[in-house]
Amino acid sequence: MPTVPTSGNVPHGLAAHEVLLSLDTDGEHGLTTEEATRRRERFGPNLLPATAGAGVVTRMLRQFHHPLIYVLIAAGAITAGLGEFVDSAVIFAVVVVNAIIGFVQESKAEGALDALRSMVRGEASVVRDGREEKVPAEDLVPGDLVRVAAGDKVPADLRLVRPAELRVDESALTGESAPVVKDEAVLPEPTPMADRRNMAYSGTLVTSGSGTGVTVATGARTELGRIHRLVGSAQTLATPLTEKLSWFSKVLTVAILSLAALTFGVGVVRGEKPVEMFTAAIALAVGAIPEGLPAAVTITLAIGVARMARRRAVIRRLPAVETLGGTTVICSDKTGTLTENQMTVRAVWTPDGEYEVTGSGYDPDGELRDGDANVVTAEASEALRWCLLAGAGCTDAAFVLDGGRRTLAGDPTEGAMLVAAGKGGLPPEQVTTACPRIATIPFTSARGYMATLHHDRATGDHVVLVKGAAERVLAMCRAQLTADGTAVPLRPDAVLAATERLAGRGLRVLATAIGPGHGATAPRLDEDALPGTLVLTGLQAMHDPPRPAAAAAVRACHTAGITVKMITGDHAKTATAIAGHLGLIGEGPDGRVLTETDLAALPAERYPDAVDRASVFARVSPEQKLRLVKALQARKHIVAMTGDGVNDAPALRQANIGIAMGTGGTEVAKEAADMVLTDDDFATIEAAVEEGRGVFDNLTKFIVWTLPTNIGEGMVILVAILIGARLPILPTQILWINMTTAVALGLMLAFEPKEAGIMNRPPRDPGRPLLTGALLIRILLVSALLVGGSWWIFKWEEAIGSGLTEARTAALNLFVTVGVFYLFSCRSLTRSMWRIGPLSNRWVIGGVTVQALGQAAITYLPAMNHLFRTAPIGAQSWLRIVAIAVLASLVVAVDKRLRRTA
Ligand code: ATP
Repeated sequence: MPTVPTSGNVPHGLAAHEVLLSLDTDGEHGLTTEEATRRRERFGPNLLPATAGAGVVTRMLRQFHHPLIYVLIAAGAITAGLGEFVDSAVIFAVVVVNAIIGFVQESKAEGALDALRSMVRGEASVVRDGREEKVPAEDLVPGDLVRVAAGDKVPADLRLVRPAELRVDESALTGESAPVVKDEAVLPEPTPMADRRNMAYSGTLVTSGSGTGVTVATGARTELGRIHRLVGSAQTLATPLTEKLSWFSKVLTVAILSLAALTFGVGVVRGEKPVEMFTAAIALAVGAIPEGLPAAVTITLAIGVARMARRRAVIRRLPAVETLGGTTVICSDKTGTLTENQMTVRAVWTPDGEYEVTGSGYDPDGELRDGDANVVTAEASEALRWCLLAGAGCTDAAFVLDGGRRTLAGDPTEGAMLVAAGKGGLPPEQVTTACPRIATIPFTSARGYMATLHHDRATGDHVVLVKGAAERVLAMCRAQLTADGTAVPLRPDAVLAATERLAGRGLRVLATAIGPGHGATAPRLDEDALPGTLVLTGLQAMHDPPRPAAAAAVRACHTAGITVKMITGDHAKTATAIAGHLGLIGEGPDGRVLTETDLAALPAERYPDAVDRASVFARVSPEQKLRLVKALQARKHIVAMTGDGVNDAPALRQANIGIAMGTGGTEVAKEAADMVLTDDDFATIEAAVEEGRGVFDNLTKFIVWTLPTNIGEGMVILVAILIGARLPILPTQILWINMTTAVALGLMLAFEPKEAGIMNRPPRDPGRPLLTGALLIRILLVSALLVGGSWWIFKWEEAIGSGLTEARTAALNLFVTVGVFYLFSCRSLTRSMWRIGPLSNRWVIGGVTVQALGQAAITYLPAMNHLFRTAPIGAQSWLRIVAIAVLASLVVAVDKRLRRTA
């Protein structure tokens, strides 16, 4: 069994081979699969233990930390002191039940968010049995040989054995955001963590380079695990809106408590009985404080998050749910998000001719046909042969067998060129055997091309193969190749014209070139030496089909008042053609396509306006994205921006909604993002925006529904105090109304389906208050009806000789019944409840049934009558109650209708 190096035997203090030895691992072949399985059993999964968080007790106690609860506890104690033990018991019971409900709901919301984390699961590249494979990061065990590269999150604590220009952002652990350069040299044992350059720690991010390391600690034993244990990492449920609301309810609480204290004081001075005044003051406080509001908002947000996850948009930061609904611009990458990123070469152009390529996808079946539709192979022309060879040789992609299926490992652009070479009679194996590779200059978006140095076995010479963006490659060429293999003077105009023609068909065009592989003394590949030495061999043009749902999603965004902008590294013509196809811009040039060169030429003051008006940004580098986001934000836009690479991270952070790709994206991009698309599809962004709008609607509906009850109760009590009448409703009864209706009725609105036409309205203005004037008026109307109705019912019962208890019971039932009827009205803020179908939300039906049973119990069960001081009421009373509730519904219906036609 391996010994995991621990302090006294610290891995950074040992040479790499010593660490490998102590962990019983082979530095080339890694562990065997069987050994990995054994160790997995011994060490457990490479996961951070779920935070027991603040602990059940602390979390439960937190539920009591609320001003209203303090008031209730004080009221319960004083009531007991006055000898009213039943009332006191009811108040304490409510406090406890409220805490339990709060605790359960909070745990559920947190659980839902925690579950999301597992949807974006990390992977690791590990060498086992001598083969490199991808495994879920949780399967790593001490001793595993792990490869990391730019964009990866380090999956466990690694002692580096072969770092290659590896730079790691360790800010997650050390707080230092400048990337640290890694090497493998042995360090003195006391070296502090931040200076251990031969280690890569779990949870840190690789910003550039690559490296291999041996796993020395996993899960809770990593440095990250140690910190995790120290601070815990409870998911925060706060968002700007919940914070604003809890601030609002705190201010309100203080105001209402002062008012209650004032009434008590004034009443006592006026000579009222202190006990009665105390009861009235408590009733006022309990009734008017909207204590359920912040919790309901959090739960509605959590339900929204779960809905988005079902539509494949995983929210990483809760505030994003709120912001999504207000999105005004979506900046989307083209390749892979708007298109499939499934490339197929359709045409090959060489200086001596043009060829169409048949077949589809990565299927090797297909041919090259010349202008006369004759089938040709690479042998037809030297230019064609070298063009195909450059595509197949200058590549990091390969086809592998995965479970018997031929699949592409690597970049789809490169995969397409491998397939094209095969169709021309140059299968990849033949290319690697005939021209083994010696050196590489890798492709980056900024560089725009890739170059490789090969040994040409046929001639014994060395040759450089180059492929890349047409303008970039052309700029480095001195000549072009003919069919018989001679280099003749370059005709840049003809090459550019062919590029534009092919790009105009929506094809991605790459130029290929070859160059001499000889330096002054030895073969070499030097980036600075390439310009002026290359010979252009041709162009390959590939098709990347738009995603099936993308055009419809773009249309939906437009109807919803959201602008969609395409950002791509591709040629402007290619981008324009695809943008036209997706409906992003009209056909033909209309000045709405900007390239990086255009952007650079813009004076700073015109930049935001030009960016705002353009629909397509072509040939832009990821670095430009940050500037684009800032410019759009300066124009008061709420920007959603997609990204997948390391360089995209700053723009993702800056955007109001940073969106990373779950399948094709790097860990660095995911860390920076607010939302991750598990299917990389543009249509998912549109779906998430739709859900975001739905969440906001439901929040508004809840608030519009709940406030009249609070205002109504508060006003009823206040009026009673002012006119010196008996309370139409008692504190414990108010507690009953607030507690039961919030859970059984109000919360059901969080499950309300999205309204039809939700994407036909413009985005919400973020500066606009949650409640518009129209909604405030509706709230006041219903509040007034509640106040007037409950007094009328109360007085009527008294007038016909019912007892005080019956009269109060009738008033209590009025509040709840109006709440039930009004709930149906609130299911849509604009449309009539008949239009949405009164029975279409089964949650509401269930909630109403539960509430009805509750009302039957509190009205007719003797035990409940005793506890809440209620009494059975007759059918006539119910008729009056329902009549008022119907009246309230009618008033809201008329209000909606007037506003619709206004
Ligand atoms: P998008 O921004 O739409 O997702 P992209 O990120 O795929 O596009 P880049 O990868 O920056 O865009 O590619 C820009 C250009 O670089 C392409 O138009 C192509 O000409 C060239 N190119 C792309 N991939 C390679 C590669 N593997 N080797 C050489 N050149 C490439």
